[in-house]
Amino acid sequence: MKINILTIFPEMFEPLKQSMLGRAAEKGILEISVTDIRDFTADRHNRVDDTPYGGGAGMVMQVQPVLDAFRGSGYGGKVIYMSPRGEILSGGLARELAEEQEITILCGHYEGVDQRALDAMDAREISIGDYVLTGGELPAMVLIDTVARFLDGVLAGEESVMDESVYSGLLEYPQYSRPREYEGMQVPDVLLSGNHQDIARWRWEQSLELTAERRPDLMEEYLSQPHELTRKEKAVLDRYRKK
Ligand code: SAM
Repeated sequence: MKINILTIFPEMFEPLKQSMLGRAAEKGILEISVTDIRDFTADRHNRVDDTPYGGGAGMVMQVQPVLDAFRGSGYGGKVIYMSPRGEILSGGLARELAEEQEITILCGHYEGVDQRALDAMDAREISIGDYVLTGGELPAMVLIDTVARFLDGVLAGEESVMDESVYSGLLEYPQYSRPREYEGMQVPDVLLSGNHQDIARWRWEQSLELTAERRPDLMEEYLSQPHELTRKEKAVLDRYRKK
């Protein structure tokens, strides 16, 4: 997949070269290109923003540098504008975007981007949540990371993105690693038992408990789905249904 970024802070995308996304790029699964919108400004002082027509606080990213950066970079695919006005990012939306061959992400600053640039690029607005950040760079990185986890070959062989919290329908059970005991704190016995059925059941119960406690909305959704369950699992689920 090719992901292109239009930004006035290209250096903010350096972290994408690290860790899982860096390896995805090395393996050729993900190709990330970054273009500095400022390189395309016609302003002799290198400005990319101006005051809003109609008055009001702050500055607006101007149509000329944004559109020239888009056209001059030759970027294609669907255009996404990171924006608190957009539809909220979800696993479903990330999965849908992971089907694309190429997308182009526009990062805003100041009070946002001149509407004519968004219209000309037919930009789809996506928000990472109901709060406002200073710029679109961090939201773009959140989007890229979320989408990349759905690409074949990004996660290690045995990992499945659909087993993770939320996507599986439940929150994930607690995880433990070596040592067995640390400052008097023990790993639950069942995880050391070697009994895979017991471990699976314990994890599932823990997931149910955490979800019921922290995310009643997810729990309700989970309980409304038909599940193929063993007798013991049904008993556990009935306990939660009665709560
Ligand atoms: N005046 C704008 C408004 O009220 O909708 C907010 C502009 S915000 C200060 C500057 C830029 O940060 C936006 O253009 C957008 O690219 C980005 N941004 C801020 N919050 C965001 C969010 N929750 N999701 C996605 N992008 C966001």
